[in-house]
Amino acid sequence: MAQLKCSRCGSEKIMRNLKIQDRGDGNWSHDLEVEIHGKPEALVFKDTHREALRATVCGECGTVALTVDNPQALWKIYSQQQQN
Ligand SMILES: [Zn+2]
Repeated sequence: MAQLKCSRCGSEKIMRNLKIQDRGDGNWSHDLEVEIHGKPEALVFKDTHREALRATVCGECGTVALTVDNPQALWKIYSQQQQN
């Protein structure tokens, strides 16, 4: 696999696939997620799909890029929504 380089500073100190934790009261935490509703107009069953965000962080300059593990699943719901 090709060595990743930072798009900003060119460093190869790239940390991949880091979890992004949201922390609340009582140290309660969960992964940050993007969320899409297949049926946003529905009152209860919105056909919600969530994908956890993963961060790629440069260990030199701190540039952060966000990705999701399964973008195809999000795209499927998003594109269906656009046709309505
Ligand atoms: Zn960098």
